[in-house]
Amino acid sequence: MRVLVLGVVLAVFVLVALAARTAPALGEWMAAGWLAAAALPHLHASHWIQRCRRDRAGTPYVDLCSVWIFAGAIVLPLVLELALVAVLYAHRWALVNRFDAVRPPHRTVFTAATLALSAAAAATVLRLSDVQDHLAGGARPGWVDLAAVVVAAAVQWVVNTVLVGTVIAWTVTVEHPRLLLGSASDNLLEMGQLALGVFVALALLWWPPATLLMIIPTFALHQCVQLDQLKLAARTDQRTGLLNAIAWHEQAERALQRTRGLVGVLMIDLDWFKRINDTHGHPVGDDVLAAVATVLTRAVRRGDTVGRYGGEEFAVLLPEVDEAEVRAIAERIRLRIRALRVSTPRGEPVTLSATIGAALHPAMPEADLDGVIRAADDALYAGKKAGRDRVALAGL
Ligand code: GH3
Ligand code: MG
Ligand code: MG
Repeated sequence: MRVLVLGVVLAVFVLVALAARTAPALGEWMAAGWLAAAALPHLHASHWIQRCRRDRAGTPYVDLCSVWIFAGAIVLPLVLELALVAVLYAHRWALVNRFDAVRPPHRTVFTAATLALSAAAAATVLRLSDVQDHLAGGARPGWVDLAAVVVAAAVQWVVNTVLVGTVIAWTVTVEHPRLLLGSASDNLLEMGQLALGVFVALALLWWPPATLLMIIPTFALHQCVQLDQLKLAARTDQRTGLLNAIAWHEQAERALQRTRGLVGVLMIDLDWFKRINDTHGHPVGDDVLAAVATVLTRAVRRGDTVGRYGGEEFAVLLPEVDEAEVRAIAERIRLRIRALRVSTPRGEPVTLSATIGAALHPAMPEADLDGVIRAADDALYAGKKAGRDRVALAGL
């Protein structure tokens, strides 16, 4: 991975050296100036939006710089385009660092370098297809130019996604390879930025001060990102990262309607959890809940729905199962919770167990989720009464 990161940075240096051999014309300097004049206030505005939600850890830093960078790829000579990327990211790094000193500089260098490379790839497509000359010559560009711009945008996306995806694949374990491509809304956002970038380029060529107006739609786009993140936060339990009770219920309802075969529901309640809080303190209890959530997500199959149902209660929906399978999954969860060791700040290992109530549901049209949940809940309480640390199947 280090080789890749260094390779990307080195490639950018080579590009700079090559690009710097031709000096930009005055008009090109002016265009770069207008772009920076729009991009820098935009960065400040977007940083303000980011700060409003920076306490929500795990949400990625969104900057929407692609708007300005793709516009630069269309109108600027390569050397100025690379300089623009450098200025934007140096500025962004300084901004972020002033408030949240958590980002190592090499990350920003890598992000900037991948963007520089992908923008250079896009600019190459545009140069080869003469779009830049058509636009700069004042001629009216046609359909072929539009197609070239779309291809260039796609090239910028592919180069960036491949480089970033490779680094992510090497540094963290991703549950599914598709996640490396980013979510559908991430990609929609990226497309929105590239499309806005085209209009910024047109403004730069024909009416440069209008470039400044593009700060407004970019800012509006950013607000939509926040809306998306809020929607996600509304469905997620902050302590464990699992679905919260309402979201679990909704998702389980949908899964129940889709499933033709049997559906299993597990209600999992940690045993004597209050004692863990009383003995080791609430923060250790919180760590235990997060650790149990990880155990649950790893112990179920892909397509099963895990949620935090209450304080120390979790719910799992298992579509397309039979009784033996429900029992096997519940038993696997129970054993893994028993094998769990969560260490306290003083280094003592906390152990725990769970009682699991399970119910199976024949998926009939009049089937109803609440009925299965009630049955699983009754089984859970029967299991508690019978001595805890066990799986109890409803009706058996
Ligand atoms: P049982 O085996 O009968 O389930 O006993 P229990 O102690 O687990 O059950 P009880 O319902 O008496 O206690 C549940 C405890 O879970 C009480 C509450 O303080 C704790 N709890 C609920 N939510 C949280 C949380 O978010 N963090 C922490 N640390 N504790 C929580
Ligand atoms: Mg409970
Ligand atoms: Mg309990």
